[in-house]
Amino acid sequence: MMMIRRALILTQFFLTFAAAAQAPPVSGTRAESLVIRNAMVVDGAGTPASGPADILVRANRIAEIVWLDPVAVAEGRAKRPAAVTEIDGTGKYVLPGLINAHAHVQDERGGIPQPLDYTLKLWLASGITSVREVGAPSTQQILDLRGRSERAEVASPRVFVYARFGAPPEPLTPDAARARVRELKRMGVDGIKSVGVDRDIMTAMEDEAHKVGLRIAHHAGVEETNAWDDIRLGTTSIEHWYGIPDAAIKDGVQGFPPSYNYNNEVDRFRYAGRLWREADPEKLLTVLDSMVAGKVAWVPTLDIYEASRDLQRAQAQPWFADYLHPTLEEYFRPNPKNHGSYFLGWTSTDETFWKENYRIWMNALREFERRGGLIGAGDDAGFIYQMYGFGLIRELELHQEAGFNTIKVIQHATSNNARILGEESRLGRVKAGYLADLIVVDGNPLENLKVLYPTGVEQIVNGVAARTGGVKWTIKDGIPYDAPRLLADVKEMVRQARAARGVAR
Ligand SMILES: [Zn+2]
Repeated sequence: MMMIRRALILTQFFLTFAAAAQAPPVSGTRAESLVIRNAMVVDGAGTPASGPADILVRANRIAEIVWLDPVAVAEGRAKRPAAVTEIDGTGKYVLPGLINAHAHVQDERGGIPQPLDYTLKLWLASGITSVREVGAPSTQQILDLRGRSERAEVASPRVFVYARFGAPPEPLTPDAARARVRELKRMGVDGIKSVGVDRDIMTAMEDEAHKVGLRIAHHAGVEETNAWDDIRLGTTSIEHWYGIPDAAIKDGVQGFPPSYNYNNEVDRFRYAGRLWREADPEKLLTVLDSMVAGKVAWVPTLDIYEASRDLQRAQAQPWFADYLHPTLEEYFRPNPKNHGSYFLGWTSTDETFWKENYRIWMNALREFERRGGLIGAGDDAGFIYQMYGFGLIRELELHQEAGFNTIKVIQHATSNNARILGEESRLGRVKAGYLADLIVVDGNPLENLKVLYPTGVEQIVNGVAARTGGVKWTIKDGIPYDAPRLLADVKEMVRQARAARGVAR
């Protein structure tokens, strides 16, 4: 009798609850309020999951997180926030929107047009709500995109504009470098991406950038400067890695063969794979400690070199079948004319060196964080077999492979990246008062980062193989986007582009 009564009460409760359920969100439209009900929460601050909770969004802010007491819920006396629209988060995980700290907004590859929407929709479909754009050919074009994104005129992550510094026409004198920094500041950029400049120019540029309040991302290539310059000058983040082992070589220069030519990309990437082994382990720790002391963060972009250690894996990624745009496919093909498409005569020996390179690099990353260093995550996609969005999820898997707990891995792509941007007081957390950049994931990414791939994972559900996972909703600035629908748009875009060009797969 008791059992029946209890069942009745529960049935009544759920009926009442069902009747009171609000409308689902309309993709691309910000409602006055939105509640994500009964979801598990991963905050992004390096703390474990907790929940379930109801997360209330008002306009573009997280208004309230209500932790649910299961007993109170069962007895129908739980306080549940009301909202105009509602997402059922049962069995789902809510995370801060992912931040892509090393992104390239691209609308062409190798001079062939590629729809801007292709890039933007793939990022959103992968749960990316902010990108740090590091060095587009046209700064003004990216500034315009930033504005259109802010005004919700385009479905796009937030854009932080880091203008390329060092590209032609490159400032040739320290004074010209300072003038260029001031000009960029007037244009309204968020920061500077420095590539391949000599020490005198870099010194002037960084000094001026600090004065006007611009952050600096340094693509630390094999060049005159290395991590010691970043430490001395106060670079915000080192992108990639070369400048770090380079700073730890006892003799000061890698043992290149005499025929080496930096501008030959086969040479460049082949011998980059033999750089980490030359770093003196003791000196390397001193470099890492000095980066920590100098507050130089590290955005390693592990994913963008992966083809060098496993070309076959890179060339056979399953999402290429439906989502690889023919423009990008053509660009990825080995061709000395395209940057990063250097796989001509790539050998098993090259891959073996690169596997060792990764092991030392990954250990250095772990040491860096253990010593207090700040690590971010970015995909650098659009090059070397990495697709927008998918590349960032692969990057997260590689952070796990480096030895980081998945809780820390999520932190790298959320609150750490927010700190690198200087946005840590309003982005990168699931926290009341923060901007409503959230993702609703079908599955637990702390158990399996692969559930973040837009194409999901294969699981056994009720005894049969089924595809689950993926981001269901990407909420940016309070605007919910139906992520599977964005992915379907991309698939259709690719199908049409292939048909138009007579490309069969
Ligand atoms: Zn890049």
